[in-house]
Amino acid sequence: MRPLLLLLGISFPTYASSQSRGEAIALTIDVGNAAATLRLLEHPDAPVVDWNRFFALDGTQALLGRMERWGEDPSEGRLMELLREASRGASNVPMSFSAVVRDSTTIRTLMNRLRDETQGIQGFVNQRLSRFLEEEDRLEINVVLVLGGGSAGFTRGGAKNQFIGLHFYDGDFLGVRNLILHESFHNVQAAFSPQLPAMCLSPAEEHTYSLLSRIFQEGTAEFVADIWDYDPAEAPYIAKLQDHLAVNRNPYRRKQIEGLIELVGGPVGAQLSGRAESPWNILFGWNWRNPGYQYGYTMSQLLYGPEGRSDLRVHLRSHPTRFFLDYVDISQDGGLQPFSQGFVSRITAIEAKLGQC
Ligand SMILES: [Zn+2]
Repeated sequence: MRPLLLLLGISFPTYASSQSRGEAIALTIDVGNAAATLRLLEHPDAPVVDWNRFFALDGTQALLGRMERWGEDPSEGRLMELLREASRGASNVPMSFSAVVRDSTTIRTLMNRLRDETQGIQGFVNQRLSRFLEEEDRLEINVVLVLGGGSAGFTRGGAKNQFIGLHFYDGDFLGVRNLILHESFHNVQAAFSPQLPAMCLSPAEEHTYSLLSRIFQEGTAEFVADIWDYDPAEAPYIAKLQDHLAVNRNPYRRKQIEGLIELVGGPVGAQLSGRAESPWNILFGWNWRNPGYQYGYTMSQLLYGPEGRSDLRVHLRSHPTRFFLDYVDISQDGGLQPFSQGFVSRITAIEAKLGQC
């Protein structure tokens, strides 16, 4: 374990001075959904107008948009039913609403602290991300706190919003702040990384590209918001994540993940794409301990760590093929061969095609 993160000793610029320099990222924290959920759980017989106001909130809309993937009917009626059930004290209400009721005091305290410390969180995010941005880059990010559902944090592919499931953190301020940083890097990727040009690659190559892209996106976000920099005693939520991901740091497992990446990225992976039995779900699924995330993190460490010779600022604005080919180069210089020649040739061919589109 590395020494307790330097971040605890970092002093952030005051709001005034950071403003005069012009911070690249302006961050707002939207407590709308979280506050309204807590209120409705206490007053489930609130008038319809209150419920309608709740349904119209950005955070509620985002939750409704994800309910299907959590096995729920994504309707306002169903959401109201779940909240009312939980408010009556029922246990095991789906979307973790029973846990929200149980932990409501801790959640409220955390919500208020995040709202009150928005400025400090903005300073932290800028301090960590500014070296990956160009001088003139500006981004407005809205952090939407939500309650209920199966995601600790997610974006909807856009550069503007991110959604944080506040019921996951057990009051761990450092844990939630680190996830805001992780999601903010996804917002940065959405704003500044190139899109895959249409009609440039074959469908099977597009599939390979989307795999490389996902490993780049998650691996670099994990690198930027590094959970291994924290002392587990200081951050209980991060301690849980360290525990969850530690198995991926085993070198034998790492070799197996490389085999899995080739399988997912090759023709078999493309054929199974989108199906429940797709090996893609092993690489990125929580139930499999997210090996794709940690592999991308290890790649980033080699590329951008003390021994590295690549620049994440450059990779951020390149196709993910560059990230992979640079990683293969630096690994080979160290006497390692992470992927087969066939897989490397496939990536090289995609890179060449992208250069001509
Ligand atoms: Zn992520």
